[in-house]
Amino acid sequence: MASEFDLIRRYFRQATAPRDDVVLGIGDDCALLQIPAGQQLAVSMDTLVAGRHFVPEVNPVDLGHKALAVNLSDLAAMGATPAWATLSLTLPAADAAWQTWLTHLMHGFCTLASTHQVQLIGGDTTRGPLSITVQAHGYVPPGQALRRAGAQVGDMIYVSGTLGDAGLALSTQQGRYQPTTAAAQATLQARLDRPVPRIALGCALRQVAHAAIDISDGLGADLQHLCTESGVGAQIQAAQLPVSAPVHTYLQQTDDWQLPVSAGDDYELLFTAARTSQSQIQQIAHKLALPITCIGEITAATALSMTLPNGSSCPLGTGYDHFARSNLNRG
Ligand code: ADP
Ligand code: MG
Repeated sequence: MASEFDLIRRYFRQATAPRDDVVLGIGDDCALLQIPAGQQLAVSMDTLVAGRHFVPEVNPVDLGHKALAVNLSDLAAMGATPAWATLSLTLPAADAAWQTWLTHLMHGFCTLASTHQVQLIGGDTTRGPLSITVQAHGYVPPGQALRRAGAQVGDMIYVSGTLGDAGLALSTQQGRYQPTTAAAQATLQARLDRPVPRIALGCALRQVAHAAIDISDGLGADLQHLCTESGVGAQIQAAQLPVSAPVHTYLQQTDDWQLPVSAGDDYELLFTAARTSQSQIQQIAHKLALPITCIGEITAATALSMTLPNGSSCPLGTGYDHFARSNLNRG
């Protein structure tokens, strides 16, 4: 059984590459950070609890990735450049089995951290029911952060990547759906387990987007948050929603438009921009090799509605609420 201090020395102290702006990292009572001159600090925190946000038997490499990824996704949604992270871990034990688990967790965490030059600069380690809290810190030029408020009537609404993949993976995991091929199943599962924070997109949108949010709770719920903060409404075209091949097949089989609209965990960016920014946005999509799709328009009427392919309309905006019903795998 290792002590808290053994764990810190072994698994955290030199886990990630050092950055020049970290004056003092892990080992003292506080970390000391030199924020780049003239920048604002952006801070985000998310907790993943075993049995609520992940099944206890999840691959710890994926879990380490996801715990950091969901926080980096928040920084992306603000247009912030990631720099540092802290990690608070509650572990049931520190025996050999949990140490192996920790090695895997940190492998997933640190691989993603190194992709974005994020340094782990501190945290806390305690014993108890398994849970993981990560706080990510980044910076953004003053006045350029992308906020939920700011959407304007007549703005086009855009989304990156594809919607509903993680939700369909969850349905598959829970035995409610079977993808037609093993390859499709693997693609979906990877979208659930290893979300890609859209950091480069967030930074590229700084002086382009009027408002932005990352899709963690589902398109309807997150669009509702954006619209509420902006005091506007939205009209979405279901036929324009970007979906992967497996989700397209699912929609053909079931006509279940709730999936791409209400499933969470995709961690794509949802943003609005002036009509005149259309070509600039397509250039960004091309440069980043990331699909960006226009899915509708911001309206003055504060309701959210979606036009279905058959021409009928339905309301949008109901999403996941942690306290409303129990669910797994939502952030
Ligand atoms: P204190 O008791 O003063 O809060 P700790 O003994 O908890 O200090 O932590 C010692 C050092 O190890 C601190 O720099 C802390 O940030 C770091 N640390 C502890 N747990 C973790 C962790 N899970 N990940 C990263 N750093 C950690
Ligand atoms: Mg402590």
